[in-house]
Amino acid sequence: MLSPHRGNMHGIACPMIARQAILGFSLSLTLAAALAVTLAFSAAFPREIRAQTEDEETVSAIFDERLTSGEMYYLLEDLCKNIGPRLSGSEGAERAVAWAKEVMEGYGFDRVYLQEVMVPHWERGDPEQVRIVNVEGGMIELRALAIGGSVATAPEGITAEVVVVHSVDEVDELGRDAIEGKIVFYNRPFDQTVIGTGPGYGGAVTQRSAGPSRAAMHGAVGVVIRSVTSGFDDEPHTGGLRYLEDVERIPAAALGFQSADRLVEVLEAQPDAQLYMHLSSKWHPDALSHNVIGEIRGSERPDEIILVGGHLDSWDVAEGAHDDGAGTVHAIGVLRTFMNLGIRPRHTIRAVLFMNEENGLRGGLKYAEVAKETGEKHVIALESDAGGFTPRGFGVTAADDVIERFRSWLPLFPQNTISYINKGGGGADIGPLRRETDTPTIGFIPDSQRAFDYHHAPTDVFEAVNRRELELGGASIASLIYLIDKYGLRDEKAQ
Ligand SMILES: [Zn+2]
Repeated sequence: MLSPHRGNMHGIACPMIARQAILGFSLSLTLAAALAVTLAFSAAFPREIRAQTEDEETVSAIFDERLTSGEMYYLLEDLCKNIGPRLSGSEGAERAVAWAKEVMEGYGFDRVYLQEVMVPHWERGDPEQVRIVNVEGGMIELRALAIGGSVATAPEGITAEVVVVHSVDEVDELGRDAIEGKIVFYNRPFDQTVIGTGPGYGGAVTQRSAGPSRAAMHGAVGVVIRSVTSGFDDEPHTGGLRYLEDVERIPAAALGFQSADRLVEVLEAQPDAQLYMHLSSKWHPDALSHNVIGEIRGSERPDEIILVGGHLDSWDVAEGAHDDGAGTVHAIGVLRTFMNLGIRPRHTIRAVLFMNEENGLRGGLKYAEVAKETGEKHVIALESDAGGFTPRGFGVTAADDVIERFRSWLPLFPQNTISYINKGGGGADIGPLRRETDTPTIGFIPDSQRAFDYHHAPTDVFEAVNRRELELGGASIASLIYLIDKYGLRDEKAQ
């Protein structure tokens, strides 16, 4: 058994030598000494133990490289500050595509190319106005953002009484008599009792995605929701909605947590208070955009691809630092780190920066369609789209023996980084690839306590990312990809 602690046996294995080459140290003496020790070591220990030690050394070198260079953190800064928001179809998204291609070309990846994809193009328009009117003491402004994809209100806005509900089913229970002509306020809060925040989000997000059409089925004229957030500040959180085909499309906005509290308070005191909403969002025709793809070609199995991805698009109101600038630099960083450390992969390692995860998933769908058409073989696909927070684990959708194999590598990860491999996991963008080509998938799981404080809110900016946490995540992903590349999903004789 390996110790879960990282060894400190510098000078024994190859990655250390590679690292010194990058740092520009004089190689001659160190190299000779290292080779001598390596040879002595090789003779003294059986192959299995040698492999374990070599893996420990390589994983250690990957973590060292990422933590000391901080290179991906500064790349993220560049994306956030010099490109900024990049919703599909926007000028920002197109600049992000050009940026990503240039970055990967600049790093000298073996192949960098664009994959065409048509994407939806929605614009928010003027700043949203949502206020409580017809209330004692004048009106009360609320902080709000249109939910992504929402139609505009009439140019003069809409004013209506408010019906408070806590679920989409409650709208059905109340029925048309209670709903018609009103604005429905979905006030379901994030479940704070869930320790991992993902299910808290999952439990509340239906009011954003399905709430507007459900309310419209009963004659509502507009919808506001309590933002789907674990935070307690007043930042509104946008996100996507899905209008049903044959139902009238009504405008919908998300309120900041405190604004939602305020609305509840006012309605308790004065149930006939009204809400005024003005949204000027707009739909345009689909636009041409691209997935951006970079590769390091495999030395032994170049036709077998290990994919690592994130999404390049972001919501329009933020820099998309955690969502998903972090995943973007995590993906690029795997290839960059391999090059920095002189790791030549056996399989082709492909970074895919998907377009349009946020409001359409067209990039993921297009990628899967092309992969199926061309018959490209994907060994496995990993996605990072849960933020640049401290790494905790991976979720893996694959056969049980593959999951067991991954679990056997857990002792190689430094303490306080990756400590579990869950059964089941992947990501929105690589979901279609799994469905179309049966490719196993992996989702990177960082700590989730702060993720939904920032998710889809104007506060998702570079300053919300911690350099060490981001790089630890990137190093964890690069280490797992290194191990998969080296050992495969199964013993190769059995493959
Ligand atoms: Zn995302």
